[in-house]
Amino acid sequence: MKQTRRTRAVRCPVCGRGRVIDAAFGVDPNCLHLYGPEQADKAELFSKCPTCGVQVGISFEKNRYTYK
Ligand SMILES: [Zn+2]
Repeated sequence: MKQTRRTRAVRCPVCGRGRVIDAAFGVDPNCLHLYGPEQADKAELFSKCPTCGVQVGISFEKNRYTYK
């Protein structure tokens, strides 16, 4: 399946170099929170940095998606 949506690389919070995940281009980066291994209990999703190999936790700030 070919990926046609534009995405933006989200970098590893530990080394700042590895591309941990891709976010859709319209996503507000302030809604995305990345955690290193010490804060992994706050995360909802997990990925792994291809550069330093650390487990990176990800969560979304859900209340920012609520519009009134
Ligand atoms: Zn890294």
